[in-house]
Amino acid sequence: MCEHHHEHHHHEHCGHNHNHEHNGECCSNTLRPKKIAAAVVILALAFIPLLPEILKIGLFLAAYLIAGGDVLLTALKNIKKGDFFDENFLMGVATLGAFAIGEYPEAVMVMVLYQIGEYYQHKAVEKSRRSVTELMDIRPDYANIEEGGGLVRKSPEEIKTGDIIVVCAGEKIPLDGVVVEGEASVDTSALTGESVPRNIKEGGNAVSGCINTNGLLKIRVTKEFGESTVSKILELVENASAKKAKAENFITKFAKYYTPAVVLGAVLLAVLPPLVTGADFAIWIKRALTFLVISCPCALVISVPLGFFAGIGGASRNGILVKGSCYLEALSKPDTIVFDKTGTLTKGVFSVTSISPEAGVSEEELLKAAAMAENYSSHPIAQSLKKAYGKTINSEDVKDVTEIAGSGVRANVEGNEILAGNSKLMEKFSIDYKKAPGDGTVVYAAKNGKYLGYIVISDVIKEDSGKTIETLKKLQVKTVMLTGDNFEAAEKTAAALGLDEFYAHLLPEDKVAKLEEIISSKQKNKSVIFAGDGINDAPVLTRADAGIAMGGLGSDAAIEAADIVIMNDSPSKIILAVKIARKTMSIVKQNIVLALTIKALFLLLGTVGLMSMWGAVFADAGVTLIAVLNSLRALRIH
Ligand code: ADP
Ligand code: MG
Repeated sequence: MCEHHHEHHHHEHCGHNHNHEHNGECCSNTLRPKKIAAAVVILALAFIPLLPEILKIGLFLAAYLIAGGDVLLTALKNIKKGDFFDENFLMGVATLGAFAIGEYPEAVMVMVLYQIGEYYQHKAVEKSRRSVTELMDIRPDYANIEEGGGLVRKSPEEIKTGDIIVVCAGEKIPLDGVVVEGEASVDTSALTGESVPRNIKEGGNAVSGCINTNGLLKIRVTKEFGESTVSKILELVENASAKKAKAENFITKFAKYYTPAVVLGAVLLAVLPPLVTGADFAIWIKRALTFLVISCPCALVISVPLGFFAGIGGASRNGILVKGSCYLEALSKPDTIVFDKTGTLTKGVFSVTSISPEAGVSEEELLKAAAMAENYSSHPIAQSLKKAYGKTINSEDVKDVTEIAGSGVRANVEGNEILAGNSKLMEKFSIDYKKAPGDGTVVYAAKNGKYLGYIVISDVIKEDSGKTIETLKKLQVKTVMLTGDNFEAAEKTAAALGLDEFYAHLLPEDKVAKLEEIISSKQKNKSVIFAGDGINDAPVLTRADAGIAMGGLGSDAAIEAADIVIMNDSPSKIILAVKIARKTMSIVKQNIVLALTIKALFLLLGTVGLMSMWGAVFADAGVTLIAVLNSLRALRIH
């Protein structure tokens, strides 16, 4: 539903590039060993002495086509698409050339070795993909529905919203919903990377992908499977490769120039030396063909995306969802990290510290008015006021609600116009209010244009916020806080945490303007990252080089608007995310350097005739394998 919408506002530097996906996958990997075996047997037959020459050539040709037919076909297909220069083309030209100059067994063996290399590469890629999904292991297999006095297992896709599902001890919660009966401790580790159990009971939110460790839960489903947290997360990880990092785009661009250059080089190598020195054409043609085989950039083409994929997988194992490799790149070199206050650095769970009604208004009346006006708001302040009020609110009594982001709410409560929010809201509606003293967060309220009084609420700083800011400072990252709260409350938090800068009293659009300012003064080639709680922060999340949302558990607003989602709310995960991003980038760079250096060396050896065609293929498969294994390291960072 929102994916298309999302396409509009991702960032410039995350160029899209779908056209260079994998071309070489026309042969299924299960068939490959059989083909290889057949080609080798036929090749061996061709060596039987006393066979007529024509039959031998026929056998070589058969072996060659069995081993390399699909490579030639793919090359042809790509040529039709106008995509001339890829690895298949290089292999095709090189081996056909070898055939033409009478090097039959070589041509066959090159294809056979290439296929063996491909076989292992595919296995490695598949294995890493599987380990990512397995590690996440959140896809539910079934949902229990009560039917005819017993439980029936159904596929989660069949369940509709409003259905009641039953989750027994030890089972995975298959869909998002609200607990209607029962109590249990759930393990959220697959989503958050941490095995701190959460207790849920009647009325509480059940998030799909968590495991019910004890108790029995009956849950009223609130979202269909396609919209559930689990599906969103899986989709996100699976689609992550679409937003490519510069390093990945580099390869696509690189291949565009590299392959033609290599082909030109090979032609020159075949023609020039014999013409100039009068040497034997056959030797130089063979060298040119070897040169072509060596030049296949498989290691790069395969290992770079795999490295990012593994990095994204490694992050998700730690409860950090990254929507694209370009965001890993941004995360790896932060200049400034900008934080939102409420819900990001602080818990966003307010407790009421004082209620100060105007003369003639009771505390109860003030709190009731504010709490009822907040009935439909999901803002942490609203939640806290409703909790403090404690009584159930009849939703029919609250109408015409407008939530003014960064200010508060306005609603018709039992026929009266109620305003609840900060001083900005009071000024906007020209309410004659008195400024509250102290450094708490203040909610002012008014009824039908008349000031009712204010409620002071206070929030607590998250346990790991201090450590996070401290570590970021050590990493020489600038830390800034932007908040819509009042100056005093902001100053208190900023001082407690030792933030470099803070700006208070900001509306969402002011936050964007401030962020623009910060971006314009950042160091070149570095990034500005925004971390917010996803409520009210969508515009800033989008504007930053990478937007991190806190608290993915249960809040889809966060999952949708952000580029990176931290599932368990902990700011310290930002440090871990930076660490994983840096490691991933360095692995990717290592692979690029390794592949290019070895390629250059072998090309040189091939040019001077010190590298055989067989050696070339072995070398390529080897480099690819090393690069693939290196990439997989990114899966295991914590
Ligand atoms: P922050 O930037 O700290 O996360 P927000 O932008 O969400 O804060 O909100 C800024 C300020 O706007 C809050 O401190 C509060 O004063 C006011 N506000 C926003 N939403 C509400 C609401 N639903 N009820 C009352 N006040 C609100
Ligand atoms: Mg906020």
